Order: sequence, then structure tokens, then C-alpha cells
Amino acid sequence: MRVRVLGAAAGGGLPQWNCGCERCRMCRRGDPHIRARTQDSIAVQAGGCAGWVLVHASPDVLRQIEATPDLHPRGRRHTPIEAIVLANGDLDHVLGLFCLRESQPLSIHATSAVRAGIVERNVIARTLDRFPGHTVWRDLPLGVEAPLLGPAGEATGLCVTAFPVPGKVPVHLAGDAPSAEDNVGLRLRERPGGPELLLMTAVARVPDEPIRAAVLLFDGTFWQDDELGCMGLGEATARDMAHVPIGGPEGSLARLAAADVPRRIYTHINNSNPILVEGSAERRAVLDAGWEIAEDGMEITL
Ligand SMILES: [Zn+2]
Ligand SMILES: [Zn+2]
Repeated sequence: MRVRVLGAAAGGGLPQWNCGCERCRMCRRGDPHIRARTQDSIAVQAGGCAGWVLVHASPDVLRQIEATPDLHPRGRRHTPIEAIVLANGDLDHVLGLFCLRESQPLSIHATSAVRAGIVERNVIARTLDRFPGHTVWRDLPLGVEAPLLGPAGEATGLCVTAFPVPGKVPVHLAGDAPSAEDNVGLRLRERPGGPELLLMTAVARVPDEPIRAAVLLFDGTFWQDDELGCMGLGEATARDMAHVPIGGPEGSLARLAAADVPRRIYTHINNSNPILVEGSAERRAVLDAGWEIAEDGMEITL
């Protein structure tokens, strides 16, 4: 299985259009101690298969595709992207769907709650439903392994199991009743018994159940709970935004220290997070603990 990180930033990206924080300014002036990042998404390909599966469709999806020759068309009207999987309905993970509207049949795997949050009460969703078979929505059942399929049911060679992860309803649905289907983790593999890629890129609290996988991509949004307040960027805490911080006694670095995961990678990193800066104490703490820090273009093979 090949994995390509298309974007490793949290919502807003790095730099973020309306942010003048130190990190975003470092990016804009080309400081070599930091790398710009687009918003959270990966592409996954099964061994021996030609097609790719996207996890999330970020608002940056068009430039992520252009930056990735494997995702370029191989014919006059073609895409090697055979399916898209959504782990939640946050706009930084789904807005890109509406950029993929050039009459290309799409296969989107999502829980019914995530699908409803995108297509219901939303006239713009009709742009993905312009002809029969334009968009096929495939239900992601919780706790049941399902094959990832292309628009006409073609096999992608990959299977997914979705499971509930503590999170929240998307900001634009605030006030709606929460459901276990609002935010899921994804376990991807080629075949039963094969190595597993575990994705948990929006996590309010580290689950108590033991975590086991060949490769873990985990929520690295914030280093500390009051990060935005400390930097004068806003009042909300990491927990208000349903993201467990990396640092601190209840943070993911401490809570996942004993997890059975040979390769662990932080992604979905907010532009406020000091782990982005080469040489920072926080970055060193993460690397010393055996974690990697995702960057756009990173390749992972399992
Ligand atoms: Zn996000
Ligand atoms: Zn910033």
C-alpha cells in the first residue's frame, strides 16, 4: 500500500489567508525553518492497482492533485481517483468535493450522518448530482469492514473500517443532535491480515482502547490546550474545538506512548503549533518520542 500525504495542515492551512502569526509570517518570507502546508488529505493506492483513493477532499484539493503527478489524468477526460472517503463533515475535509464538479463520476464513502450534513439543506450539493450516476454515495457502516469501490463498483484493492472517535458536529451544523457517525477513525488495508493504516486526524480525546496498527496518522492540531489564546489568535481552547493537544499529561504524546504502532505520524497540524518550527523544543520532544511530523508530499509505504 502506498500513501501520499497531500496536505498536512489543519483547517486554514499554513500560511492561513487571514493569519499574521509568527509561523504564517515565517512561511510567507520563505524562512527555511518552516514548510508551508495545505489542508489535511492523503491519497492511498493498493499494491498492483492503478487507481487511488482520497481520504478527505480538502479545499486545497485542486492544487494537491496538480502537485501529485500520480493523480493526473491519463486520458482526455480521466482521473485516477476512484473513490473518496470522508471521516467527518468539517468543511476543511469536504469543501473540495465541490471543486471536483467537472462532470466526473464520483464515489464517496461516508457515514449517513456525514452525507446528510453535506447534501441536506444544501442547494450547492446539486452540482454533484447533475446526471444519473454522477455521484454515488456509499454508506460507511461503523465497525464493519467494507470494500472501497469506484463509481461503477470497480474494486480499488482497499478496504476500510470506520469506527466512532470522540469529536463534534461540524461548525456549520452546531445545534444539531450529535451522533456517533459525526467523526470516525478509519482503518485501511489491502486484505485481511495485511498491514493497517490507522487514521485519526480529528480526535477530542485519546480513546482508552489500545491502539494497534502498522502506521498511525494522528491529530496533531495543537501542542497545548490554550495555544490560540496564548498567541492572541482567539478564545477557543483545543478542547472547545474537539482536538486533544499533543503536550501535557493528558496529551496524545503521553497517552499514546505505549501504543503498539511501529510508525506514528502527527498530521492535521494547525499553523499555531510550535512543532512546525525546525529546532523548537516542542518539535524535538515529538521527534525524540519516536513520532514523525507530516509534510505535504510525504510518502509512506506499508
Ligand atoms: Zn480538520
Ligand atoms: Zn498563523
